[in-house]
Amino acid sequence: MKYIYRFEEGNKDMRRLLGGKGANLAQMTTLGFPVPDGFTITTEACQAFYDNNNQINDDTLTQIEAAIAQLSEKVGKQFNSPTNPLLVSVRSGAAISMPGMMDTILNIGLNDQTVEVLANMTDNRRFAYDSYRRLLAMFGNVVYEIPEGVFDQVLEDVKTTHNYQSDLDLTVSDLKEIVDQFKDLYVSKAGKVFPQDPKEQLLAAVNAVFESWNNHRAQVYRRENHIASDLGTAVNIQMMVFGNAGEDSGTGVAFTRNPATGENKLFGEYLLNAQGEDVVAGIRTPQPISTLADTMPDLYNEFAAIAKKLEFYYRDMQDLEFTIEHGTLYMLQARDGKRTPTAAVKIAVDLVDEGLISQTEALLRINPDSVGAILYPEFDEAELDQNTVAASGLPASPGAASGQIYFTAESAKAAHDDLEQQVILVRQDTSPEDIEGMVISEAIVTSRGGMTSHAAVVARGMGTPATVGVNGLQVDYQNRVATISGEQLNEGDWISVDGTNGNIYIGQIMTNDTKVNDNLSTILEWSKQESDMGVYANADTPADFAQALKFGADGIGLTRTEHMFFKPERLLEMRRLIIAEDAKEREAPLAELAKMQQGDFYELFRLSEGRSVTIRLLDPPLHEFLPHDEKEIQKVADQLNIDPNYLARRVDALKEINPMLGHRGDRLAVTFPDIYEMQVRAIIGAALDLLDQGLIIEPHIMIPLTGSKAEMKWVREVVVNQVEQLFAKKGAKLEYTVGTMMEIPRACLTADKVAEVSDFFSFGTNDLTQLTYGFSRDDVGSFMPEYIKKGILPADPFQTVDVDGVGELMKMAVEKGRFAKPNLPIGVCGEIGGDPKSIEFFEAIHVSYVSCSPYRVPVAKLAAAQAHIKLNKKKDVMANLVKN
Ligand code: PEP
Ligand code: MG
Repeated sequence: MKYIYRFEEGNKDMRRLLGGKGANLAQMTTLGFPVPDGFTITTEACQAFYDNNNQINDDTLTQIEAAIAQLSEKVGKQFNSPTNPLLVSVRSGAAISMPGMMDTILNIGLNDQTVEVLANMTDNRRFAYDSYRRLLAMFGNVVYEIPEGVFDQVLEDVKTTHNYQSDLDLTVSDLKEIVDQFKDLYVSKAGKVFPQDPKEQLLAAVNAVFESWNNHRAQVYRRENHIASDLGTAVNIQMMVFGNAGEDSGTGVAFTRNPATGENKLFGEYLLNAQGEDVVAGIRTPQPISTLADTMPDLYNEFAAIAKKLEFYYRDMQDLEFTIEHGTLYMLQARDGKRTPTAAVKIAVDLVDEGLISQTEALLRINPDSVGAILYPEFDEAELDQNTVAASGLPASPGAASGQIYFTAESAKAAHDDLEQQVILVRQDTSPEDIEGMVISEAIVTSRGGMTSHAAVVARGMGTPATVGVNGLQVDYQNRVATISGEQLNEGDWISVDGTNGNIYIGQIMTNDTKVNDNLSTILEWSKQESDMGVYANADTPADFAQALKFGADGIGLTRTEHMFFKPERLLEMRRLIIAEDAKEREAPLAELAKMQQGDFYELFRLSEGRSVTIRLLDPPLHEFLPHDEKEIQKVADQLNIDPNYLARRVDALKEINPMLGHRGDRLAVTFPDIYEMQVRAIIGAALDLLDQGLIIEPHIMIPLTGSKAEMKWVREVVVNQVEQLFAKKGAKLEYTVGTMMEIPRACLTADKVAEVSDFFSFGTNDLTQLTYGFSRDDVGSFMPEYIKKGILPADPFQTVDVDGVGELMKMAVEKGRFAKPNLPIGVCGEIGGDPKSIEFFEAIHVSYVSCSPYRVPVAKLAAAQAHIKLNKKKDVMANLVKN
């Protein structure tokens, strides 16, 4: 088995085998860019490692030896050479980039002898010992698991003793002393010595990288990002070049476009006389890349040209790492850059404008969930005016949020999980160990670090607002307090963070809706062109509907009319209706309610400007509208001027053992048709009022909880009779439809028959999932997380469709329904109507529309376009297979 590929042997399409980093290094080498020589140990070697009881197998060992010999010959350097020693870096690189998750060791090959050779060769003793102490710290941390902080402390102590400001002040003798202390730490903390043999160092490092694939934080990251755990990581071995070889050397990271805004301008930072880790770790404050144009103009131009070419070649924004060694540029990494949702949308639109990608490619590149993140609330302007900025830092990841502060990932997670608090993680800086705390935070704040620090990169990837490197923020872990510009804050105190401009406020600030920007509008417009799936909103109020229309909703797919009855003055009428003795007594409250409902529908229809509006008749059990405790019963009895004992008896009579399976939905219409009749009069009345004003509305009336054709037929007749009576009375007519929710498994099983008496179907996946799986939708929270954690369920079926079960039932209902009525419109209006993964399935079974909450509308639009594009691609592949 070939376990090793030299960089010249690979290319960018070999990610699975060489990992992302390896494939890109190979590709850059092939393109002729200045990449230090090296080779990649494949992900298959990693899998073989795990198959071999966590040991590198013999085949891999032999091939590593051969590759080192070949590299030595090519670059003219050997391990342990007394004249020209070979030093290499060892870096992990999985097929899917996992920032900060895996480990890197630089300067492998240095030992007590070669450090002296390097010092003499470069005539730079400081550089040699600085490199050596870095190796010892990284190796000790990665291979022997000695905490990083232990090494940092030694460095800090030496600096404090000599009153130094920066690492650069450390002298050769300080560095030698640090090296000795590090070696002592190996013995005291791990009972080990630092191996002097470079080959031994190398193999231990490769071993550690393979091991780190399964460390806790890598597992958490993979779980969060749905990355398969059996992919394994590759290991890249590369000749060292030194950014810390003097003031004509340096190291940096850059993005070909701004990863926060998407602006088409080189964006990044660098440090002179430093190695890569210094930039990412955020220990020293890096310089913006633009200043390199002044300090090293030729080199800057060379770098900018490579950046452009790489972007052209990869047809996407690139994240680059480079090193300058004595004025020569080396490219260390190129990969597709992580970006904020706002930047993702802008870059996709710009790349189409620049002719680099097609419209469909642009749509496929944007994660639909991240479109939701663009619509993140901003702070309310009026409230903001009353607050002063307490501190500010770098705007690392946009969006605004308020939360209660915590200084460790554990305490943040505990407050979030146990106390259900909205939390903000505030730290000096973050590291991969903090990932679980970061995932659940509303925002992340650090006192140190730059735009490419761990906190910044991870927050951007998650779409979580973040402000980093905050001036005037001190975090004292020991005493669990933070000071922001002189004010002391404890864990649990509220702050507000604006990651778009980097500002921080003390206290809680209300957030506001943001508007859809031009780039997002373009994406939504393109989405519409690519998909014929309708995207409607679940909206019960004119405010919801107005919001949904701003987000491009095609209309309303579900208005839950019961929500309109919960306003206080209506609730009273509703209660009067429910406790009425006979039809006669019901007339007055029904007339009152009809008036109010007609006003509601009028507003929704008016806002629709003729777009489709689907209104569902009353669904919940009547018991939900009644008071439950004694005090409330007394109060309501007084309001209604009735005997509280009578009211209590009515409440008791309406009580059900299992109300979700009880007297609700169209079962109410069977016993109290006058409620549905009232609603129908209000709907049609409102539409006729608008017709008078020249607006043509075709109301879609939806019946909940249908279980059979006979039931639907009966209720439909109630509706139709009422409509016809109203038409006769008003002397006017309009088009309308009467359809059903599909939320009872029996209705799905008999969908061909139900379709005969329905003008449309709309899957109520909340109830359908509840009834198919037997999971109570209101109680599932207590055990669902265990099912997911234990891998019994891949996802919560109330959030993502259960394709095999509920999905199968839906598919059957679609087929049967369309068998009876080929053009039957079929929608989905449960929560999963706005879930991208579910939408892909709905597209495949030919659902005609989805309906979801207003904020999910743009997400669903993009997801629908992607589903359509992907399905068509699949069809193309099939067509070609058939042709060939
Ligand atoms: C459903 O059951 O999926 C649905 C949309 O109706 P509700 O959530 O109101 O029961
Ligand atoms: Mg329902």
